Amino acid sequence: MRITLLGTGSADGWPNPFCSCASCTAERADGRSRAPSSALLDGCILIDCGPTTPHLPGTAGISLAAVEHVLLTHGHPDHLHPAFLLSRRWTAPTRTLHVWGPAHAIDLCRDWIGPDSCVDLHVIAPGESFDLPTPTGTYDVHVLPAAHASGDGDILATEAVLFDLSAPDGQRLLYATDTGPLPATTFAALTGRFDAVIVDETFGDVHDHGTGHLDLATLPVLLASLRDQGSVTDSTVVVATHLSHHNPPTRELRERLAPLGVRVLDDLGTIDTHRASGRPAGRRLVLGGARSGKSVTAEAMAADGLHVVYIATGGVREGDDEWAERVAQHQGRRPAHWQTIETTDVTAALMSADEASTILVDCLALWLTAQLDDLDAWTRAESGDRAGVQADAAGRIDAFIAALTQCAADVILVSNEVGMGIVPATASGRLFRDLLGVLNTRTAAACDQTILVVAGHPVPLPSRTGVPSHA
Ligand SMILES: [Zn+2]
Ligand SMILES: [Zn+2]
Repeated sequence: MRITLLGTGSADGWPNPFCSCASCTAERADGRSRAPSSALLDGCILIDCGPTTPHLPGTAGISLAAVEHVLLTHGHPDHLHPAFLLSRRWTAPTRTLHVWGPAHAIDLCRDWIGPDSCVDLHVIAPGESFDLPTPTGTYDVHVLPAAHASGDGDILATEAVLFDLSAPDGQRLLYATDTGPLPATTFAALTGRFDAVIVDETFGDVHDHGTGHLDLATLPVLLASLRDQGSVTDSTVVVATHLSHHNPPTRELRERLAPLGVRVLDDLGTIDTHRASGRPAGRRLVLGGARSGKSVTAEAMAADGLHVVYIATGGVREGDDEWAERVAQHQGRRPAHWQTIETTDVTAALMSADEASTILVDCLALWLTAQLDDLDAWTRAESGDRAGVQADAAGRIDAFIAALTQCAADVILVSNEVGMGIVPATASGRLFRDLLGVLNTRTAAACDQTILVVAGHPVPLPSRTGVPSHA
């Protein structure tokens, strides 16, 4: 199952647009904004549809045209903004859209449906199970009571439900927002293992909110119980959602939730339940000149990984204070829960990486330098053995590319883009420039995406589809 989070924020989003608290300010400074929570499953099932849900996917090139079913947890306005039914009607639909939800949520949809809307409404109640047929197979849904009511007679909260959903590929998801600590009946129904759990974590460090939501004190308790009964295992992908500004900034939240095995994704983040890392398998290359912002870009791309292994290829340079200061600066920027390995043997590190991790290699230019040092290339190049060095270096690059393509982990590689300046004065300098060009080109060909960072701005490069290979 592939899950795209169309929103991971609370009702007011995070940052709250009108708030200047430290948490909202930090999120804005990071350029991060979370829309109300919603999820898209395999492109065909939408869970909840708030006011911004239909509009966010377009920014990532995702359409909702293939959605056959909308599952509503409840009718609060951040989870149901029925105007989407009118938008869909204006596309002159011929296929039926099925909307499933608790009685009062479904009532809110009725005024938005005309005779030619091609929409079927289905009232569901806790304890019920039903099938969702789609072109790729049938999903099974089991409806469970949430604990969202706060005792103020809010019927929309009282009827809120959670979904236990199994996909045609056998993968199973628990979608559990909005809810506080689970009712006993819900908990008892969650027997067996889940591949993914998307769970409420609205209130962060505010514990006396008295609402039907989870926070950083109650979520760990719930997860421990789910682990005890085997519903959540180490290979279950657990993601926090419905996040509000009562949480510490995302960067800190990730560090606090990582030990619990809980991931914090950005909006439009995707989960691939077939992979223990939860991330869609991918290899990405980040290129840039010196101080272009390439490392910062790569670190931001790795930030939602739960087990990030940072491979520093620079090594230790005795007596080089400028280098030491740079290394310290990089280290200070990296989250404390990342593992750092200092090695120039990137090939071995890629071969031994496990599927649950995200590998960040910074950087390939230093790796190449180490290979050339090892091959005594500089002396050989100056004394005319350019061809010999090239052949030896090609062997190292072949082994690296083979390891990269076989690596089970998600990989993000940083490299320098150096060939645009003046021609280096020395034979060894020209050799290095040429070999790095070859290494970058071959690495890019083995990657799913290549990003060029210019003056701090990441520019995704178009795919090479249709360009003849010149390996
Ligand atoms: Zn909500
Ligand atoms: Zn709600």
